[in-house]
Amino acid sequence: MRLKAVLDAFVGGVGAMLLLAVGYLVEAPQSAAAATSIHVDPLSQPIGAAENWPAHNADADETAFSRLDQISTTTVGRLGLAWSMDLPEISLEGTPLAVDGVLYFTGGQATVYAVEGVSGKLLWKYDPQSWKFYPQKIGFALGANRGVAYGDGRVYVGLRDGRLVALDPKSGSVLWSTETVGANTPEVISGAPRFFKHKVIMGSSGAETGIRCAVSAFDAATGKLVWRFYTTPGTPEQTRGDPTMEMAAATWDNEYWKKGTGGVVWDGITLDAGLNRIYIGTSNSATSGSEIRSPRGGDTLFTASVVALDADTGKYVWHYQETPRDIWDFDSAMQMTLANLVIDGTKREVLMHAPKNGFFYVLDRVTGKLISAEKFGKVTWADHIDLKTGRPVETPNARYESGDLLMWPTPLGAHSWQSQAFSPRTGLLYLPYMQLGMHMKRAEDPGQIGYNGMSIRPYAPDPLDGKGALIAWDPVRQKAAWKVQLDTLWNGGAMATAGDLVFEGAGDGNFSAYDARTGGTLWRFYAGMGINGAPMTYSVGDRQYVAVLAGYGGGAPAWGETVDAGWSYKGQRRLLTFALDGKAVLPPSRPRFTPVKALDDPSLKLDPADVAAGEKLYMRCVLCHGVELHGVGGPAPDLRESQIALHPNSLWSVVHEGALIQNGMPPFANITRDQVNQIYAYIRFGARKLAAKQQAEAAKH
Ligand code: CA
Repeated sequence: MRLKAVLDAFVGGVGAMLLLAVGYLVEAPQSAAAATSIHVDPLSQPIGAAENWPAHNADADETAFSRLDQISTTTVGRLGLAWSMDLPEISLEGTPLAVDGVLYFTGGQATVYAVEGVSGKLLWKYDPQSWKFYPQKIGFALGANRGVAYGDGRVYVGLRDGRLVALDPKSGSVLWSTETVGANTPEVISGAPRFFKHKVIMGSSGAETGIRCAVSAFDAATGKLVWRFYTTPGTPEQTRGDPTMEMAAATWDNEYWKKGTGGVVWDGITLDAGLNRIYIGTSNSATSGSEIRSPRGGDTLFTASVVALDADTGKYVWHYQETPRDIWDFDSAMQMTLANLVIDGTKREVLMHAPKNGFFYVLDRVTGKLISAEKFGKVTWADHIDLKTGRPVETPNARYESGDLLMWPTPLGAHSWQSQAFSPRTGLLYLPYMQLGMHMKRAEDPGQIGYNGMSIRPYAPDPLDGKGALIAWDPVRQKAAWKVQLDTLWNGGAMATAGDLVFEGAGDGNFSAYDARTGGTLWRFYAGMGINGAPMTYSVGDRQYVAVLAGYGGGAPAWGETVDAGWSYKGQRRLLTFALDGKAVLPPSRPRFTPVKALDDPSLKLDPADVAAGEKLYMRCVLCHGVELHGVGGPAPDLRESQIALHPNSLWSVVHEGALIQNGMPPFANITRDQVNQIYAYIRFGARKLAAKQQAEAAKH
């Protein structure tokens, strides 16, 4: 159950099937220019960012669009590396902010960096030392933090241990620190906070840990709690007299509050200045078996939903549930982008959303009513969304009533936290898409906390399974305008600019600029490591820069070979910054597909019973060290080449005593000496197997 908490924080719930498998989990446009005037209302406020990139996805509307156009379709050929900065991080998946020439970004352990935008000079670094404050929590959310917020002259960061901290942007010193979820809960933070009207808005991660989840607003000056909205109902006493929670509670059964309700807000929070609202996207429930949560057929509100709240009070305004009675871990926690679109001749204030479940939703954000919804990729769990009722029309056996189902997408999602970008110039939304299918099976105990379904590994009978794409989606016509096929499943987020470019990094290490109207590749740079973060752009003086955090990992290890893009934990992580006529040279990095150097001591005798027991225990390690010992560039090393794992004593000091806690390796205080010896046996067995395979291959040549 603790492990499951890690999952959402990483990638929104991937990998639990692996745990369950071993019984661990008990516990367009219009083509081109014409589109601008027809689809998008350019009034009200300027869309996107300019010289600063002040918010996680550029602006309050979460467009990930910049009005800068020095780097454009005509000049991008001159784009070159301005500077780079190698970073001692276990993972990078955030998006930097740029404020007045300074970049602010986070590493995987929520370390905050402030760097001079023109030179890459480090100004300060803040280490939250979660290992010191909450050692029991550092086992959650290893390697996942997506960035900071900025406002009222402060930098805000949510920490893995659940603290929210305000920093002085000049010095990095702590101005205030507050607990968002409490020290004794299993919740963590992986998402970026949002700043809005002198408040900092923060959710959390860990839906499956049996908790009731909330999103909270804190006073930006003091850190004091201003309001809190629970996304799911509490006990009857907590719910009584609150009409919103009474409405939600009527959709749950079976003393649901005892098992935990979930519904975390782990990523998407969008601010609406015009309507003075905050939109949140919620995750799945803690209990996956819908027949346990709501045997009478209730929707278990507000899981897998978009909810609109009053920005001043946090009071409920409306909700739209995208996946009623979810049993597939279809989080709706993804980024929501606001725009004004002309649909059927009428200007509509819309919210655009592409959650895990594979449908692209256009909602009327004034009322919360569905305008349209279409599949943006391979989706088999539902046939379509009924526009009258707003509900999905599920396909036969979608809830694996027969006991087995091959379905698309998976709990990894057709889209996850990787940023989407919307260009008001093209009217297109650029979406990082992932295609993957898998078998779902009924669990023996549908009431358990965890998935109702499982599979040892994703099943990929479709040639495009295990591959991602960048899709340019026309939200008015609800269809793709173009699509760039990628070789890797796990890629970076997108950014669009007024230079009519779309930038995206890929898992194969290529950072590319595409023509926003056609998808043509106009520029490409090999970063020397896989990219999961989203790019951003800013200007200092008269020069425009584009920056991206590179370094493969995050939640990748949980999906094993499916996401193996050939990277190693030992590959560096770095910040790359580009400008026209940039001439900097990239330092060398570990080449892709560098073989694991399996270490074996042939004289060592292994007891098969120890190996088997160790394999089961190792399931607690897969999220960072990789499935079946196969490290895929995640936040921890491949143990088959680890010197520490060569000796039971050194393994004990790391696993039990926490010798590497400052590096992010949590101590497992309850693990016994015998158990560590069993894990040791399993690692040695795996290393020997790999060494033998490598020797056999070498002999062939
Ligand atoms: Ca989830």
